[in-house]
Amino acid sequence: MFRNYIKMAACGTAAAILLTGCGKESSSSGSGSESSSNRDIFAMDTFMTLKAYGDNADEALDDAVERVYSLEETLSVTAENSDIWRIDHASGKATEVSDDTITILKKAEEISEETSGALNICLYPVLSAWGFTTGEYRIPSDEELDGLLKNTDSSRISVSGNTVTLPEDYQIDLGALAKGYTSDTIVEVMREHGVDSAIVSLGGNVQALGKKPDGSLWKVAVRDPFAPDTDMCVVEVGEKAVITSGNYERFFTGEDGKNYWHIMDGKDGHPADNGVVSVTIIGDSGLESDALSTALFVKGYPEACDVWRNDPDFDMILVTDDKKIYYTEGLEGSFQNISSMPAEVISLA
Ligand code: ADP
Ligand code: MG
Repeated sequence: MFRNYIKMAACGTAAAILLTGCGKESSSSGSGSESSSNRDIFAMDTFMTLKAYGDNADEALDDAVERVYSLEETLSVTAENSDIWRIDHASGKATEVSDDTITILKKAEEISEETSGALNICLYPVLSAWGFTTGEYRIPSDEELDGLLKNTDSSRISVSGNTVTLPEDYQIDLGALAKGYTSDTIVEVMREHGVDSAIVSLGGNVQALGKKPDGSLWKVAVRDPFAPDTDMCVVEVGEKAVITSGNYERFFTGEDGKNYWHIMDGKDGHPADNGVVSVTIIGDSGLESDALSTALFVKGYPEACDVWRNDPDFDMILVTDDKKIYYTEGLEGSFQNISSMPAEVISLA
């Protein structure tokens, strides 16, 4: 049966999602019946569910799945010979890369500028020091972090045509944007196949093409960062991306009993802890929404509101560490709070 909303499943907790499954089903709606097909795959370290409606759904989904695996190979930071691996191991020399990588790098630069460096794709050595790249978690000393932070000035990434040059001892990773770019790509593949109704969830990052086959909006649930197995709110959207960055998605508990998560503040090399525990961006582009979700998590509250006011072409839902929800005024009417936390509107004025 067609579920009436897509759960924002965090990586590793999507128990209901079948691995490498595939299926077809029919469901009736007000305006007749429309068959749907789905694919459940694991790629980019993430459980992904792709669902499409209509006659061309199966071939579109097969193509989309192939594109996801190919993007995984291109964008992986660890797979030898991926674009990113080759950039990171070029010892200061220029590296020729794909159009996909260039598009993401340019968006990273744009959002980094818009957020005064909160998004910084050069923080990979810092993430490694904390063990997020291997799972061997540790708390690095401030001296170690200060040393690593010397090689994280993102203005030193040079892009010319399809070549990228990085100073020696620099390493980049596109983890903050890759899944958003991937959901954009899936939607594009669907469109090319003439599909006009589809929805994908990449580890909780949701993106929709068109509306539901019966013409109604999609209902997307957002997780409660304080109880990630529960939903906190539901938003009704049309053709939008709904992308969340949260402190509960990947973290470890240190010997000091504190939690340390995978989104870093480039100011001190520590997990960003600026008053927010989750940021959801609702926007037209998956790539931009993903970049913003990470960047505004680093910015925190209320700074994220200033970034939005400067360029309010997206909506957002913030959850602060004192258990309050804030959502932008564009969501009034489509935002439904199903938690016990109070929710307040962020206005432009
Ligand atoms: P998720 O991958 O859990 O959906 P995000 O989109 O927020 O979450 O991306 C987090 C990833 O981005 C981290 O795992 C890391 O690879 C990278 N990252 C961490 N901090 C930053 C930062 N300040 N700027 C850019 N990338 C970051
Ligand atoms: Mg992101």
